[in-house]
Amino acid sequence: MRVRDIIDKIFLIEIFKGLLLTLKMLFSKSVTIQYPFERRKIHDGFRGKHALVRDPFTGDGKCIGCMRCTTVCPSRCIYIKREKTENRMVVTDYVIDASRCIFCAYCVEACPVCALVLTEDFEYSSYTRKSLIFDKEQLLKNWDEFVSKWPHDFYFNKFWQPPGIDPSRWPKTKREQKPIPIKRVIEIEKEKDE
Ligand code: SF4
Ligand code: SF4
Repeated sequence: MRVRDIIDKIFLIEIFKGLLLTLKMLFSKSVTIQYPFERRKIHDGFRGKHALVRDPFTGDGKCIGCMRCTTVCPSRCIYIKREKTENRMVVTDYVIDASRCIFCAYCVEACPVCALVLTEDFEYSSYTRKSLIFDKEQLLKNWDEFVSKWPHDFYFNKFWQPPGIDPSRWPKTKREQKPIPIKRVIEIEKEKDE
């Protein structure tokens, strides 16, 4: 053992260094916040609770049942049931098992009609696995809940038009996707309740 180490041990130098650091931190600006009373700003591109987007004019889900999201999902956690009617495909059920999702947002990027979104809502932890399996009705409800708290007049998700991919390679519907008018969506919800 070196002499310096012996002196440090006798005079408890390391303990005093630690106490000094604690004292310094007591008077420095806190890096933590008092959640849930305080909340951090959520940044653009946050990937939270899944939702199916409602068409702001018809009030129905925008999903056309093309199956691209199921194909691209690396976790294989999207299940779609669809039926072919005379002139179009009808999505009878759409299920996402959020407990298996890795929040890669590939499904949102791949959707040609911008029908899917990972909202900014992150407070949906649960004690049961069942409540993390969202069916079509729940996914549309997630969207309604999300837009009812959205503080702006319009909503546009960053992943609907994925950066880094040449827009000429996007489907036309993706290129022409406009921000969703939130007030119109809320009006539709009210009309449905009446
Ligand atoms: S975010 Fe990724 S893992 Fe989750 S459902 Fe979409 S594609 Fe699948
Ligand atoms: S990619 Fe979009 S339109 Fe196609 S099935 Fe998935 S959510 Fe529906």
